[in-house]
Amino acid sequence: MHLCYVDESGTSEIPGNSEYFVLAGIAIPIWHWKGADRDISGIKRRYNLEDAEIHTAWMLRRYPQQLQVQDFENLSHDQRRNAVDVLRRREILRLQRSGQNRLLKSTKKNYRKTESYIHLSYSERKAFITEVAELVGSWGYARLFAECIDKINYTTYNQAITPDYQAFEQVVSRFQHYLSAISDNFDFHKKAYGVIIHDNNDTVAKKHTELMKKFHRVGTFFQRIDNIIETPLFVDSELTSMVQIADLCAYALRRFFENGEEELLRKIYSRADQRDNRVVGVRHHTISNTCNCFICQSRTNGG
Ligand SMILES: [Zn+2]
Repeated sequence: MHLCYVDESGTSEIPGNSEYFVLAGIAIPIWHWKGADRDISGIKRRYNLEDAEIHTAWMLRRYPQQLQVQDFENLSHDQRRNAVDVLRRREILRLQRSGQNRLLKSTKKNYRKTESYIHLSYSERKAFITEVAELVGSWGYARLFAECIDKINYTTYNQAITPDYQAFEQVVSRFQHYLSAISDNFDFHKKAYGVIIHDNNDTVAKKHTELMKKFHRVGTFFQRIDNIIETPLFVDSELTSMVQIADLCAYALRRFFENGEEELLRKIYSRADQRDNRVVGVRHHTISNTCNCFICQSRTNGG
């Protein structure tokens, strides 16, 4: 049995508030799950992040309050946390008094999303994400699947095929393709099965459950779904490190397309599913047939 953890980066709506929508899945065989989870926990422990969710986008932001704390680098984790908390409380009060309600709301959200990481400097947070990405890159048993949609140039022959539909269908098809390729189709006992596990999110849960039922019934546009079972299972990303890894992969892909950042993506890209030395698991969906980004190249020349 193989578990494929799926998460997204960017918004699937057009135009939404991102240039790209990325849906990424990282699949691991269940017999490697314990070891993988233990490896991630080991890195988290060293950064005092045992109970924290790895939310890559929030971790890699700059936190201005840290720069205001004198001698931040030389303080203990508790001292850093206290010092940043004081500054943040002060800022919330200031915004409340000045009646800047929209800014107050976004600032509160920002503080809530980053509160688990304020004891780490920006370079430590970056080092943490790098270590996790290097670990994922070393998992020879893991496979990365992803659809990266350029929403500015998105066109479709059928209005029902939204970026979200398209991305989910692609990831399901590629996971199915992989499971079929590693199965022994002549021996029932050696057939590989998989299940999709998603971050819990009410809107996505309903949509993807319905889509998966349809794929079970009639297949995707590309193939029958013989090796994936069940509709997606939904888990709380705060509690499940493996969904956080899918989040990291989706983030790395989107940053590559939107900002040209390659460093993080290169660390995990060896996990992209390949056939005959060509990447088949990850696709750049754009209008140009002649895109020569390294992802498009890896689909023709090898990754
Ligand atoms: Zn490309």
